[in-house]
Amino acid sequence: MHNATEFRLEAHPFIPEALERLDELAHDLFYSWDHGVRSLFARIDLRLWQKVEHNPKLFLRRVAQDRLDEAAEDRAFLAEYRRVLSSYDTYLEVGPGPEVTELLDPENTLVAYFCAEFGFHESFPIYSGGLGILAGDHCKAASDLALPFVAVGLLYQQGYFIQSIDALGQQIARYKSHSSDELPITPVEKDGELLKVSVPFPGRAVVARVWEARVGHIRLYLLDSHTEENSPEDQNLTLQLYGGDESTRISQEMLLGIGGTRVLEALGLTPTAWHINEGHAAFQILERCRRTMAAGLSFEASLEAVAGATLFTTHTPVAAGHDIFPRDLVQHALGNYLEESGLDFEAVFALGAKDGGDTFNMTSLGLRGSRFHNGVSRIHGGVASHMEGDIWPQVPAEENPVGYITNGVHVPTFLAPEWSSLFDIQAPTWKSELRNPDFWEFIDRIPDYHYWSVHKALKEQMGEYIVRRLRRQHKRNGTGHSVTDRMTRQLVSPEKDTLVIGFARRFATYKRATLIFSDLERLEGILTNSDRPVVLVFAGKAHPKDRPGQQLIKVIHDLSMHPALMGHLILLEDYDQAMARRLLSGVDVWLNTPEYPKEASGTSGEKAALNGALNLSVLDGWWGEGYDGTNGWAIPPRDTGLDPEFRNEEEARDLLDLLEFEVVPLYYERASQGFSQGWVERSKASMKTITPRFNSQRMVMDYVTHYYQPASSQGARLMADGGEMASVLADWKARVRAAWPGVQLQVVGCVECRCPHDGTVELRVEALLNGLSADDVRVECLVTPECTGTHKSPGPGSFFLEKESETDGRTVFATRVQPPYPGLQTLRLRMYPYHEALTHPLEMGAMLWV
Ligand SMILES: *Cc1c(COP(=O)(O)O)cnc(C)c1O
Repeated sequence: MHNATEFRLEAHPFIPEALERLDELAHDLFYSWDHGVRSLFARIDLRLWQKVEHNPKLFLRRVAQDRLDEAAEDRAFLAEYRRVLSSYDTYLEVGPGPEVTELLDPENTLVAYFCAEFGFHESFPIYSGGLGILAGDHCKAASDLALPFVAVGLLYQQGYFIQSIDALGQQIARYKSHSSDELPITPVEKDGELLKVSVPFPGRAVVARVWEARVGHIRLYLLDSHTEENSPEDQNLTLQLYGGDESTRISQEMLLGIGGTRVLEALGLTPTAWHINEGHAAFQILERCRRTMAAGLSFEASLEAVAGATLFTTHTPVAAGHDIFPRDLVQHALGNYLEESGLDFEAVFALGAKDGGDTFNMTSLGLRGSRFHNGVSRIHGGVASHMEGDIWPQVPAEENPVGYITNGVHVPTFLAPEWSSLFDIQAPTWKSELRNPDFWEFIDRIPDYHYWSVHKALKEQMGEYIVRRLRRQHKRNGTGHSVTDRMTRQLVSPEKDTLVIGFARRFATYKRATLIFSDLERLEGILTNSDRPVVLVFAGKAHPKDRPGQQLIKVIHDLSMHPALMGHLILLEDYDQAMARRLLSGVDVWLNTPEYPKEASGTSGEKAALNGALNLSVLDGWWGEGYDGTNGWAIPPRDTGLDPEFRNEEEARDLLDLLEFEVVPLYYERASQGFSQGWVERSKASMKTITPRFNSQRMVMDYVTHYYQPASSQGARLMADGGEMASVLADWKARVRAAWPGVQLQVVGCVECRCPHDGTVELRVEALLNGLSADDVRVECLVTPECTGTHKSPGPGSFFLEKESETDGRTVFATRVQPPYPGLQTLRLRMYPYHEALTHPLEMGAMLWV
């Protein structure tokens, strides 16, 4: 007997001339949000399209020749093909609108966006969760707005893991290699050769080749260490996203930050604003300093110039989201690079030091290497200002430069095509009104029955999808059809229109996936009431090293197999973007129960709301701004100082109360028309209030206005005339840092306590400036009104005191002012260093109060 070796052969079809641009469509991630493009592939061969998991390149390699030939002869297909191409061409022709060009000149500005993961579509698995999807949505919106924008990331051959859940509820992680010819990328060439960049590593150089992904108007460049110049170990540096150990991680981050900056340089691109999206990409700061130093500036001046053009965004208060490396690892990994660059290790290490510790924190590096910083929701902005407050030690956290821009989602990607078609009829210009809340009042004009029929159709599609996925999962596990049938019996009878609640996201413990099971008996009663049944659908991956996260999966699995809950609790494996689109557009309620304030933003609830699902969430992250009392339900978080177990119990009780007394009754309050009018009203309120506020176009325009434009001009200002202002600023800061510990401030005389409302008071302070001059500081008086009756004033007013005299090294600052507010008010005086070249008046973190 011979053991036959199998060879796999793929016979490629020729693409008929009439359809030749299919290949172009397969190479532009435009397909990831344009339903028309995806439908073309599905129309040629639906089974194959599903089999290749919606991957256009793979589809075109495997599709049968006669299918293509038939399509090329089919007049209806050709008409659709031409319509899709014409909409693609129109999309690419339309340049940036005035709202963009007013702020960013497309000829002379460029935003560079660095991130470790990008989630565009399930066919391009280089993302793990929210951060990646957000980065993908950011790029898509940058393309929609035709911004001058380029993105940089890493190409992982295996990406993130594929998840199975076995019969015992254990997560099995499997990695699958993706060859570059099945991903929507092309190799980048320069002067007829493959573009490669090299980064100094310990005892060697690591070479990365470069891939380009087209995303409509913009380009994403991806570095890949899988190239012959590298040793086998180095070839595997970019094998997996968030894989390996901390040495792998720091190596990946060197490739991303240092290598990524080199790629842009090799391509002749000169960004004017740099966006570091989460700490993974922060090493770009070092490489940009190196280049600025090569132009003749000192390290300190280079850092000022680099930081002034840079925005750093932090995405989570959870420790696992911040890379912290031990000193010797940093010294070893960066040693060769720093030596070649002429950068001093101690100076670099100080940029990443946190709380004086002996570890290197990539978030601290990002913050010290940028002058623009933000969190990703109002609540998170506040949390991040406190968490990172040590960078500005003397400045109250509320006033430090950490701002926020709340995350939004890409509407064309996540809005179901059924809704999109309905909007096309009801309000044809809706795509260009994504930042106009008033426009979205049109939702109320959609007849209720019509509105509900769209939702119901999507819910049915979701039901079929869940049955398909669950069958596959249980067949493999050996549980078979009968179990699946019992599990899905509620979902397969559309006439019952059972209330479906979804929960899908990474199984990180702070997300408290099992909070709803805190009182099982009560939950069982709510779910299995035969007049008003409820189905819960769960999905999500836990990081392969996160044991507690995997334990949550097991708990939910076991409950889902329990006879008492069977049919009312479903757990699906391998959550990805395709599944997200299905669930988010099909469920009635989207549940989120994070532990406040750890959900920096969360975005899946925004996607659900676009599609008419109602959010039922802890008031954390984006929901803290999104919830208005009419558009969903909120669980107020209990005080974070309380015992965690007590908090969980209290919040779980709120959740079950809401379900039992509000959500379920409202849903089943059906009149003769077969649906609940109150529910539709709430769902419409959600769709119309959330869509125009929490989408990625609004988000990216906020970035343009508050960060990209100011960073571009600040960077240019600091670097003008060979970096003169950067040098002046660096020297001034050194002088201030040296003098500040000896600076003192005190009030002279006594401040009057009363005056007529139209009178004035005199304020006078005396400062010991320890060698600084009056021009180096600002003396400021902050006034806060006490609330009196109906006279509520908006917030603290402030004014400055001017230099009055200077004798014996003592400088007196004074002013005479009229009380800004009526009645009682509080005055506080303070002094901080000030220079007109600063990006933020408090960026030095120095401040004295009297
Ligand atoms: C939107 C999205 C996320 C983020 O979900 P959160 O609930 O915000 O954590 C994660 N994974 C996928 C596939 C998504 O589409």
